[in-house]
Amino acid sequence: MLVSFKIQKFNPEVDAKPYYRDYEIELPERATVLESIIAIKEEIDGTLSFRCSCRSAICGSCAMRINRCAKLACKARVADEVNRHGSILIEPLQKLKVIKDLVVDMDPFWRMIEKVKPYLMPDPNEAAPERERLVDPSTTEDVIRNSLCILCACCHTDCNVAELEPGFVGPAALAKGQRYVADTRDGATDERLKSLSEPHGLWECARCFACTQVCPKGVDPRESIRRIGHLAYERGIRSDEGIKHAQAFLDSVKASGRLNEATLPLKTKGLGVVGMTPMALQMFLKGKVPFPIQRPVPDMEEIRKIFELTEKQR
Ligand code: SF4
Repeated sequence: MLVSFKIQKFNPEVDAKPYYRDYEIELPERATVLESIIAIKEEIDGTLSFRCSCRSAICGSCAMRINRCAKLACKARVADEVNRHGSILIEPLQKLKVIKDLVVDMDPFWRMIEKVKPYLMPDPNEAAPERERLVDPSTTEDVIRNSLCILCACCHTDCNVAELEPGFVGPAALAKGQRYVADTRDGATDERLKSLSEPHGLWECARCFACTQVCPKGVDPRESIRRIGHLAYERGIRSDEGIKHAQAFLDSVKASGRLNEATLPLKTKGLGVVGMTPMALQMFLKGKVPFPIQRPVPDMEEIRKIFELTEKQR
């Protein structure tokens, strides 16, 4: 099978900016993208730079953008990419500085992982047990699912929020955080929940599910973020604007069956809403400020039943 590749190249020592180079190479049907770029390096362009190690979707080092989506090159099949896109476009992971071609500086990603303290912190007031601390079976699903993460950074670099807000700790770090929040051997659950609920933490997630979609290991970071948020709410850790916004949303629907957009900013931002005055004025002049008093929907009884049912299921 003759396959066309377009690969982004950039050597900061000699190139003014990144550029694309086209390659064509004969490959077996079952070739992976990683096998292809190794063949390109060996047969056509010895300068092509990329990382790889295990070739088995275990080490995470060959993460790159393949046809505009972060993937492990060792897991992506050339035939699948060609069937879907006709050819193969390869670029480095987004948002990270390019060191050379497809090799990126992973340090900013590691710093986000460090922020969630990815290690067990037993309660210092608890006497050391005579035997090892056992994992409660009820939490093993969370511990195991999040432990599948191979730190490839696919989810982090394809995250839509991290694109707009570089301070966002990101889905991989939050999934790692949830692994320790869920672990019954850890003694710092509240401390962790408070820290994960701070600005640039879990409430910045836009729930777009891009992280879950790109994760090559089935970690489902969005589900981990949802679980941390749920636990933080249950434990009364509700200081961030994100959770206040969610609460205001819930209260509004509970009260009238409608979303009261006029009161949302005040309930979310408190006195900080004063800073939004210029924008509110502009909206008012364009007739876009919603009326704050709303009539409840006619079938409020149905809404109440939904809330009652949800309460029972919690
Ligand atoms: Fe990679 Fe998935 Fe871990 Fe994100 S959660 S770093 S996509 S393995």
